[in-house]
Amino acid sequence: MKSLLLLALAAAPVELSYGSGPLQLEKLAKVPDATLVQQIVACTKGYRVTRVERRGSPPTPVWDASSDSLAGLSRPERVALLSVLGRRLVGAEVDVLVPQGDAGLTPVSVTWEPDGVVSFESGPAVKSLVDDTMTAQRIKSTFDVGEFIDVDATWDGVGYSVVHQALSLLTREELALVGGLKFRRVKADGVHAAKYERGDTSNWINVYDAAFVSINELFIGTVAAPRAQALYVLLHELGHALADVRFRQKGLLSKAAADEYQRHQPDVDAAIAAFNDRAKALGPTPNAKGVAELKALDAAVARAKADLDTRFKEADRLVKQMLASDRANAKGRPVELAFATVMEPKKSPTAYGKSSAKEHFAECFSIFKNDPDALRRVSAVAADWFAGGTHVSLAAKAIE
Ligand SMILES: [Zn+2]
Repeated sequence: MKSLLLLALAAAPVELSYGSGPLQLEKLAKVPDATLVQQIVACTKGYRVTRVERRGSPPTPVWDASSDSLAGLSRPERVALLSVLGRRLVGAEVDVLVPQGDAGLTPVSVTWEPDGVVSFESGPAVKSLVDDTMTAQRIKSTFDVGEFIDVDATWDGVGYSVVHQALSLLTREELALVGGLKFRRVKADGVHAAKYERGDTSNWINVYDAAFVSINELFIGTVAAPRAQALYVLLHELGHALADVRFRQKGLLSKAAADEYQRHQPDVDAAIAAFNDRAKALGPTPNAKGVAELKALDAAVARAKADLDTRFKEADRLVKQMLASDRANAKGRPVELAFATVMEPKKSPTAYGKSSAKEHFAECFSIFKNDPDALRRVSAVAADWFAGGTHVSLAAKAIE
């Protein structure tokens, strides 16, 4: 039975992927050097790794099947390699940030190609990937954003810094499609790290504590310019917001019309009150001038009623139109469906991306913005599609 399962695993085609779950590097960081080496070698043999090499032109071999020793590896590189090899993340690129005590965090990028070649490169240690002096004011002075709201968690420098960095990664055209969003800090919803929400009063991105969980063990981007892993979820949600822009605008239009209707409701009562007051003042037998006056006030009541009726119909039309366009696009918005024809959701570089056209688009948008080469490694056509700005032109297109 066991051997059958192994055969099945061996026969399954290896998919290219990006990222990993939490790596629990704190545990690995305590493992003695000799044990790290021993375990890396054991993994390479057990998981049919053909080569381990340091990236470069040409790459430098570090281990191959004919030897049992690892040459020229730094400790952070050993920790990073074992964190990926030990999890058997075949096909993946994992960008590991190894804590180095006072020296800071060392970025090590590890890829495991389907042919069994594991390659890596590392960059200089960095103290921090965030500017914890960032403020809402500084974000607002550069970007068109709404309020920063504390729900049951509090915005701090780290949170502001990842929002600032996330927005800084967008082009002017992309920024125009996500303008005005509010950002809320929420403790947890048990599922998400961040969440874009559209509604009558929402239109915001919730940022949960979970967004910061891997901030000291994973990065995104290159080893020369590593970025905080929280940017991955931020850009994912900004991808949803970008895809949804015309739908969000329909929602805002519908809400504005409903508000106008509400605002004008007292007009009818006021017109009726004006008629009643004047009628009372004029008594049961008004003269001709009084009759004319009442006629005019009566006409004003009719006008207010007609006006309110028009506003109601307009609000009703807009809300129905919005609901209809949401229903018609339930399987994905035009930009998401278009992207699914360029790269199938089932080939998405992450497990979450495989769940739907919407999540696939958001995942790939995030990887493209944070690390275009990582998307290119998995799908060159997808990277070209984003690089050509197709996502912007399709998301910006007017909808019915
Ligand atoms: Zn999503």
